Amino acid sequence: MSAPEPEESMPPPKRILLVEDERAISDAVALNLREEGFEVTCADQGDEGLRLALTQPFDLLILDLMLAGVDGREICRAVRKRSAVPIIMVTARAREVDKVLGFEIGADDYLTKPFSMLELIARVKALLRRSSAAAPVDAPDADEVYSGRGIVLNVSRHEVTVNREAVELRPKEFELLKALIRNRGRVMMRDRLLELVWGEDEYLDRGTLDVHIRWLRQKLEEDPSSPQHILTVRGVGYKFSDA
Ligand code: CA
Repeated sequence: MSAPEPEESMPPPKRILLVEDERAISDAVALNLREEGFEVTCADQGDEGLRLALTQPFDLLILDLMLAGVDGREICRAVRKRSAVPIIMVTARAREVDKVLGFEIGADDYLTKPFSMLELIARVKALLRRSSAAAPVDAPDADEVYSGRGIVLNVSRHEVTVNREAVELRPKEFELLKALIRNRGRVMMRDRLLELVWGEDEYLDRGTLDVHIRWLRQKLEEDPSSPQHILTVRGVGYKFSDA
């Protein structure tokens, strides 16, 4: 019998802060996350949640929007001023979604109540994957490369390939694809995309975005009329598929 392999140095469990004042939800979420191997800290009040978020290192925050006193949006705003920790906002009101993801609050993702635990865990894992994948390319001089679904975008070389074949993109198309693919799986609001690609001073009408999306699809999609890579999220924006 061979000797047991030396233990791979296991990464420490990811730490999640959950701020939720509904005990039943909080218990269920914490239980499910712990079963997935996460270390979960719960706060059932906003001020406690804010204090923890600002004083302890977490890998991800899950914030209920509606809390008595300091609510989820205040926590999110306060945290955003200091860190880029991934934040999932939980809201009972679907119409808040625009604000939650927008600059005003700045969450990375959201769930509307009621949500399934499977969905929650999938979102948590996706966000953590993205944030850990994003870390090294933020380092200076790193060769920034993003890829997904056979599409590879190399920032420093300004090259895009689809199934290893080079594709010519206009500068704005390139920036738009970069914004979408580096946020793969995340819905990008229309205003956010306009700002990222065209900048705040050049606020063009929203049709500009749609036109560039159409051009990108013509260049990247097998069937541009039935896009598989760049998906429309009706009423919100676009996302690069993470399927
Ligand atoms: Ca609540």
